Amino acid sequence: MPRIVFLGTGAGGFKGSGRLKSSVYLDGMLFDCGAGVTGRLEDLDLLDKIDAVFITHLHSDHLSGLYDTLVSMVVERRSRPLNIYAPPGLSSLLNTYSSLGNKLSSPETGFSVNLFVSLSTTARVGEYTVEGVVLDHVVANVGYIVRWSDRVLVYTGDTREPSNLLKHKVDYLIHEATFTERFKDVAKRYGHTTALEAAKTAEAVGAKKLFNNTHKRIGATQLKLNSGKRRASTPKPLCQKT
Ligand SMILES: [Zn+2]
Repeated sequence: MPRIVFLGTGAGGFKGSGRLKSSVYLDGMLFDCGAGVTGRLEDLDLLDKIDAVFITHLHSDHLSGLYDTLVSMVVERRSRPLNIYAPPGLSSLLNTYSSLGNKLSSPETGFSVNLFVSLSTTARVGEYTVEGVVLDHVVANVGYIVRWSDRVLVYTGDTREPSNLLKHKVDYLIHEATFTERFKDVAKRYGHTTALEAAKTAEAVGAKKLFNNTHKRIGATQLKLNSGKRRASTPKPLCQKT
């Protein structure tokens, strides 16, 4: 099992500087890039290890750290291209970003951005294959199915209703759970999931582990499933140094 690094698990607005926005690192792949995660990538010496970035959707708490990350790659003289996969809309954002004087390439070092815009992307990163699947949110949201050996991991981004996942067998599920059950109606209205709904999806796809991610009010929890009883616990440090 490759190491999963939860760089940021927060949703919506900031509640102090300790909780960064959504971003997960997995063996050369970065899933979403919320505000503040660039510094954490630097702290963990992961910035230059990123081969591909997968953006689920264009809400700022999943995206706004991308600009700082690109700046840092230019400043740190990254010497190879970066592939970015995202739903439609990111190309116009990056074009505006570039037109305002920000670099998306650095010919003298070999850095450039290759942008792939799709709602159903397929990609290969090292030993991994990654498939995009549309999951219901208030804007276009692409969940990512990561496969290697005989294992499957899914990262949902934000979704109120992940029915497109249910036909898949999943080992590890990183599922948003922005609200508790008490706020179920609010969750549905804003295109989100409660922790209980995420647990039901994990059971439906046969997940061995569920990582509840993207919280407004509660810390990240890890539910161990398929053991006869569910156990919720605070995970080990969200970021572990290599
Ligand atoms: Zn969202």
